[in-house]
Amino acid sequence: MQKNIILYSASALALAGCARQQESKPNIIVILADDLGYGDVSAYGSTTIHTPNIDRLGNEGVKFTNGYATSATSTPSRYALMTGMYPWKNEQAKILPGDAPLIISEAQYTLPKMMRAAGYATGAVGKWHLGMGAGQVDWNRPVTPGAREIGFDYSCLIAATNDRVPTVYVENGQVVGLDPADPIQVSYEHNFEGEPTALTHPGLLRMQWSHGHNQSIVNGIPRIGYMKGGEKARWKDEDMADYFVGKVKGFLSENKDRPFFLYYGLHQPHVPRAPHERFVGATSMGPRGDAIAEADWCVGEMMACLDSLGLLENTLIVFTSDNGPVLNDGYRDGAVEMQGNHDPRGGLRGGKYSLFDAGTHVPFFVYWKGRIQPAVSDALVCQLDLFASLATLVGRPLDGKEACDSQDLLPALLGESTRGRDELIVEAQGKLAIRKGGWILLPPYGGPATNLTGNELGNMPDFTLYNVDADPAQTTDVASQHPDIVDALKSRFFTLTQGYYKAEVEEVELQ
Ligand code: CA
Repeated sequence: MQKNIILYSASALALAGCARQQESKPNIIVILADDLGYGDVSAYGSTTIHTPNIDRLGNEGVKFTNGYATSATSTPSRYALMTGMYPWKNEQAKILPGDAPLIISEAQYTLPKMMRAAGYATGAVGKWHLGMGAGQVDWNRPVTPGAREIGFDYSCLIAATNDRVPTVYVENGQVVGLDPADPIQVSYEHNFEGEPTALTHPGLLRMQWSHGHNQSIVNGIPRIGYMKGGEKARWKDEDMADYFVGKVKGFLSENKDRPFFLYYGLHQPHVPRAPHERFVGATSMGPRGDAIAEADWCVGEMMACLDSLGLLENTLIVFTSDNGPVLNDGYRDGAVEMQGNHDPRGGLRGGKYSLFDAGTHVPFFVYWKGRIQPAVSDALVCQLDLFASLATLVGRPLDGKEACDSQDLLPALLGESTRGRDELIVEAQGKLAIRKGGWILLPPYGGPATNLTGNELGNMPDFTLYNVDADPAQTTDVASQHPDIVDALKSRFFTLTQGYYKAEVEEVELQ
């Protein structure tokens, strides 16, 4: 009898402990926009665009004025978020074609694996761009390894970007809606006989290309890469936002009774910008502005769903962007001509592909209703740090060997401290720079000043130093006035980059 009482007490204690643990395990959502600039959300003061739903996350949460992606392009940036590792340490972490194999090792510890180990249901919806399969993928069979193998129980994804083939949704490793009688073939090297391309059949286009993007035509839009078959499975760009919002709502509803981790990769405002007709004309900026309005709607839908499920007060939401903005990224969609007074860089210099600050300095909000007090924080934080910080939050702190570039900045992310990183290495197409405090040091790089997008790349013949606290637009190189600071930052740069710096980096050809 005595033994039974003890057992009962022990299980009651265990139950109480379990309840406490659940309370300390908020749901976690990371929303990652695609090519959204620091100036592309009105929360940072822009009056030329209105993003009320996204703003809510910043204005009612912690709004970071020094929030960073690691990289100025998608794949490396997302790699860092998922692994807590600097992407330039993995030479595969470069902009991937749509048929690239998964670049994260199945053996590697990842953010979703950590969440899964903490008892979370894990899901990934939207843009992926980390590769799928083991190479030479047969899209007509289950594609593996993929999101599941790196820690996501559920996934519904586009393999790469919305401008690359295959233009199909992949749900839990299977192409959605595929007719076995119409198999998919994909190549990034050669066209398939008889298939029209933008070059051979320009009359089929309803969106024109400006550079690259002149291969297979899907939905009247020319793409990067060649694809044949899979007609019924091909997405309609205008429906993509609704499709993924539906998948997000499904995941939230199915997992409302247990802690969940959701990675929501918005496809906007990456090219091709083809928002649903509900958003056409929502702004005066043409498809790019309208795509941002659509992205804002997506966030609003997700928030309304959380609210209706009674989950808002138990859900931490991070909103950020994988890299900075670009206007002409390969299509003639009016983004340049119609931007008016809008500054997608938000006063910073550079943009997507650039080592200048706008390449990696992005919108960054952390929202948690009832838990986080609204604040504006100038702490230096990076998406790289979400891994270690969230690991602490959910009671799975890292051991120092895993995700070793990720820093635990949980107090800063919750707005309880203004202490962020001391320093950060940023990357743009294999080129590296350092930010330390309010200083940014760009090492010398060969190569052109700009690429086909018109964005400045940050290639300079000598070390240049900027005080971005005083000069956020990086108008003035102050290296000659501060040789001591240049020396100190050089020293830290070479220590942290461990021999990865090369002055001559082959310029990435835009497709
Ligand atoms: Ca991107």
